[in-house]
Amino acid sequence: MSDAANIIILSRNRKLYSTRRLVEAGEARGHTVRVIDPLRCYMNITSNRPEIHYKGEVLPAGDAVIPRIGASITFYGTAVVRQFEMMGTFSVNESVAISRSRDKLRSLQLLSRKGIGLPVTGFGYSPDDNQDLISLVGGAPMVIKLLEGTQGKGVVLAETNKAAESVIDAFRGLRAFFLTQEFIKEAGGADIRCFVVGDKVVGSMMRQAKEGEFRSNVHRGGSARPIRITPEERSTAVRAAKIMGLNVAGVDIMRSNHGPVVLEVNSSPGLEGIEGATGKDIAGAIYTFIEKHGKAGKTRTRGTG
Ligand code: ADP
Repeated sequence: MSDAANIIILSRNRKLYSTRRLVEAGEARGHTVRVIDPLRCYMNITSNRPEIHYKGEVLPAGDAVIPRIGASITFYGTAVVRQFEMMGTFSVNESVAISRSRDKLRSLQLLSRKGIGLPVTGFGYSPDDNQDLISLVGGAPMVIKLLEGTQGKGVVLAETNKAAESVIDAFRGLRAFFLTQEFIKEAGGADIRCFVVGDKVVGSMMRQAKEGEFRSNVHRGGSARPIRITPEERSTAVRAAKIMGLNVAGVDIMRSNHGPVVLEVNSSPGLEGIEGATGKDIAGAIYTFIEKHGKAGKTRTRGTG
């Protein structure tokens, strides 16, 4: 890619730390950076010359797009990314990879198939199978997770089998799909966020749940500090991102007594926590990747994958 490229950041809010840092780091490298709200993009999807309209203007395709698509707008956001791919714009994360990573169940199945360490996890439908779903993951204490949750919402620690049954019944009553999962007690409420760019972990931090809480999400009062990860954790994180097809990913890992286990792979990982904890220029690392690999007109999927 040329030294001065036209970069589009797809983000709903230019004031967010991650968005601001991506603008700043891009401009510092001589690129022209524009923040575009994906929900204000619209398109004629039948035109044989794919284009995107934005607030009355036809958007120039740009050389590369950095999608920052929040979980609540995955459907529309990935349609916009796909349209950019059809225009030949290089997308840092492809639309198909973003969609894939947003489906927790499918992601775990894909990671499992490729031999990535995971907490023992169950999925079922019928109330007749409740007992088996509980014993499958070793019984209480165990974790029950809504498939649709983010930021630790809908992640429950059931301390007894009775509690587990009640939670399962409640989720079923709401017609919500959920996973049952082995509780990684030995991690002591800590997990590791590995920030992957290309085939490298460019930063890692340990997040510790606050006293009396098992979820380490910063939104739940968790605290973060930089940490040196083991070679096994490093390769697990890089492989997990690769399996999902993501060039930029936040891979969450726990240290279990059966080795590193992946909790999830995030396609729009935040920059604030990781830059704050590590003091590293993670936004810059994303541009280094784009400068090396971003080729307009050479996207792999062209929105067809
Ligand atoms: P979300 O996507 O909503 O953040 P996660 O599956 O990442 O949901 O779970 C939120 C937090 O709960 C994790 O960061 C971790 O601290 C804790 N947690 C999740 N699953 C387990 C588990 N199986 N054992 C122990 N702690 C867990």
